[in-house]
Amino acid sequence: MKIVLLGPPGAGKGTLAKGLKDHFNLMHISTGDMLREEMKNGTDLGKEAKKHIESGGLVPDEIVTKMVESKFKNDKNTKNGFMLDGFPRTKQQAEDLDKILAKVGQPLDCVLSLDASLSIVLERLTGRSVCRACGALYHIKNMPSKKDGVCDKCGGELYQRADDNEKTIKNRMEVYSKSTEPIIDFYKNKGLLKSLDANKEAEEVRQYTIKLLNG
Ligand code: ADP
Ligand code: ZN
Repeated sequence: MKIVLLGPPGAGKGTLAKGLKDHFNLMHISTGDMLREEMKNGTDLGKEAKKHIESGGLVPDEIVTKMVESKFKNDKNTKNGFMLDGFPRTKQQAEDLDKILAKVGQPLDCVLSLDASLSIVLERLTGRSVCRACGALYHIKNMPSKKDGVCDKCGGELYQRADDNEKTIKNRMEVYSKSTEPIIDFYKNKGLLKSLDANKEAEEVRQYTIKLLNG
């Protein structure tokens, strides 16, 4: 299965992808995670990305597209199927993705649009924490770790992303409406779009998505 996940920051794309990757044996490709890894390693790409990410803006198309293209060309695991999370984010990226996937002979099967209300995404983002070691996601109310600040899965340290603060979140939401939301129509016109209600809690969304993809 070759899937794109669309939806505003905080809609639960990462949570859903992590919850489905084993079920369907798919690779989870998150451009946000890839960029944060570059930042952590202090690479040139990471330094450039940091400027944009910390203000809540987008990293330039050419940079992200090149990174995704090299993933599809060089990582054999993408052949088993994938869930793209956080890419494409602009019309240009959507068009480039079509070209990349055509080249590697892996056209998309469907695009899942996660619909969630503004109040829900704000509450999710401001309460979110991430494991520094394994990337597992937590939420102070909805999905707390057993021990404060410690990952249940690997014992790693939990931290709050620098861009999960109110001011940056506001920018990210504006960027989403302006640059990313229009690509919903791009995929609707191709007959690939499936929408789901992402206001529900994570496990319910996961079960619903499994039915949707199997049916
Ligand atoms: P979220 O979905 O919670 O906003 P992500 O982890 O997907 O978070 O992305 C974090 C940041 O990384 C974005 O705000 C943006 O700056 C950058 N980024 C991720 N993917 C892309 C992309 N496809 N194009 C441009 N910038 C991106
Ligand atoms: Zn962990």
